[in-house]
Amino acid sequence: MRKKIVAGNWKMNTTPVEGVELAKGIVAGMRNVDKAVNFIIAPPFTHLSEVVKVTRGTGIAVSAQNCAAEAKGAYTGEVSAAMIASLGVEYVILGHSERRQYYGETSETLNKKMVQVFANNLQPIYCIGEMLEEREAGKHFDVVKQQLEEVVFNLEPAQFEKTVIAYEPVWAIGTGKTATADQAQEMHAFIRETLKSKFGELAEQTVILYGGSAKPDNAKELFSKADVDGGLIGGAALKAADFIAIGQSY
Ligand code: PEP
Repeated sequence: MRKKIVAGNWKMNTTPVEGVELAKGIVAGMRNVDKAVNFIIAPPFTHLSEVVKVTRGTGIAVSAQNCAAEAKGAYTGEVSAAMIASLGVEYVILGHSERRQYYGETSETLNKKMVQVFANNLQPIYCIGEMLEEREAGKHFDVVKQQLEEVVFNLEPAQFEKTVIAYEPVWAIGTGKTATADQAQEMHAFIRETLKSKFGELAEQTVILYGGSAKPDNAKELFSKADVDGGLIGGAALKAADFIAIGQSY
């Protein structure tokens, strides 16, 4: 049985005070969710310390949305994996399409970030997914395969076991356009097969999340698919009730 995960990516939303309120709302709501569902929340850096305090002992894990590619030093404005880990954070989202698109993140940078994540005993949530033009040109499988080969294939098996994959078709993120459950399943099965070609049966345990306009009213159908092990949720993670309702969709 694979782990079930519902992760919330808050992006650059909420003030620290609002973020703590949101986290408290999720803590309160999770009493009504099956214990088999694991929640992760990824607030902005500025909220991490307080959100870790609010969620401590509740079973909710906290994730950062990014980390620096270097360990420490003269990198103004960057936040290192060691700093993040020292707060009690457990996960880091890496390779989100917004970072690839707006901040020019490449596989080269992401490989360095992976090194930092594992050196600090954090776990990556590695995001992959194709752009609309790539899907329309029938290249979506190639794009996703390349994103796996260039980064995930460089991991040691013990690191791979700690890695969560999030398939997020870029055309579905924040657009209100969700991939159909069948499109998600088709890609998730392809991702698992690709991972198996490198890591063998370990890939049977890999958690592969779907991300892209997932909401309470479409989560059930998405999560009903064999290779969809949960969701990485953007917009709908900003309301505790919606995030909890997604957790209840298993
Ligand atoms: C995301 O950015 O990871 C995401 C899935 O966003 P949304 O749910 O808003 O499409």
